[in-house]
Amino acid sequence: MRLPVRWEEAGVREKFWRDLRTAKRWLLLLDYDGTLAPFHVDRMKAVPYAGVVERLEPVVTLPNGRVVVISGRQIEDLKQLLPLRQPIEMWGSHGREHLLHDGQYRVADLTSDERRVVDAVTSGMIERGFSGQVELKPTAVAVHWRGLPDNEQIMLRETAEKLFAGAKPPETLEMMPFESGVEVRSRSRTKGQVVADILAEEPKDIPAVFLGDDWTDEDGFAEICGRGVGILVRPEVRESCADYHLTPPEELLGFLDRWLENAKVSV
Ligand SMILES: [Mg+2]
Repeated sequence: MRLPVRWEEAGVREKFWRDLRTAKRWLLLLDYDGTLAPFHVDRMKAVPYAGVVERLEPVVTLPNGRVVVISGRQIEDLKQLLPLRQPIEMWGSHGREHLLHDGQYRVADLTSDERRVVDAVTSGMIERGFSGQVELKPTAVAVHWRGLPDNEQIMLRETAEKLFAGAKPPETLEMMPFESGVEVRSRSRTKGQVVADILAEEPKDIPAVFLGDDWTDEDGFAEICGRGVGILVRPEVRESCADYHLTPPEELLGFLDRWLENAKVSV
C-alpha cells in the first residue's frame, strides 16, 4: 500500500487517453457506493452524483468496450439506483451475483453451513430490535450504522460480533468491516476475483481501469495493478493498492467525459 498519485497530475494520463483513442477493446470497471454515488444515511437513497448517469449512458453504448459495475450491494438494489436505458453488466454481493449484459442472471449460493450463520446473525439482530440496521442480501447480511452516534455504532458492532462468534462460523465465512458497518459473507468470492475473472476473459494490454473507494475494493486494485489502472475515488486520499486518486464528483465527471471523448474516436 502507498499513497496514490493524483490522476490529474499523473504522467501516464495523456498516454492512457491516447491508447484509448486507438483501442479496439477497453474495460471500465466501476464500484458503486462512494465511487459513482455519495453515501446517504438511507442506503436506498444513495443515487449517483449529478451528471454520472448522463455520462455513463453514452459510454455504455460504445460497441468496443465493456463497462461493468462491481458492488457489495445486491443486484436488485443496483438496478433501482442505477436505472440506465442500456443494459449494463453488473456483479453484485461482492461477486456472488452476476447480471450479464443480455439480462441473464446467475447467483453463487452459500453452503448450508454458511447460510445457517448468516440466518442466525440476521434473526439475532432483528430480535434485538435492529431490523432497520440489517440488510439481508441474497448471499450475505450487512449491519449498517451510518449516521448513528458512536455509542450506538459500538453496540451494533459488538452485538453483530457476538452473534457471529456464537453461531460458530465455518472458516469460509468472515465478518468484514466496510465504510460504515460490517458484513457477514463468504470469503470464497471477492471483488478481486471478479476483477481477475474479467481480466482473464479479455485480451492483454487493452486499456483497463477499476474505480473504487472502499477497503473491499483493495483486492480489486491489487488484481488490476500491472494489467491496467486502479483509481481510488475519495474526497480524501489514503494509502491504497490503487496507483491513482480522483476526488468526486468533479474529477470523476471529468474522467468520464475524457473517457467518452477518447473511446468514441476508435469506434
Ligand atoms: Mg464503494
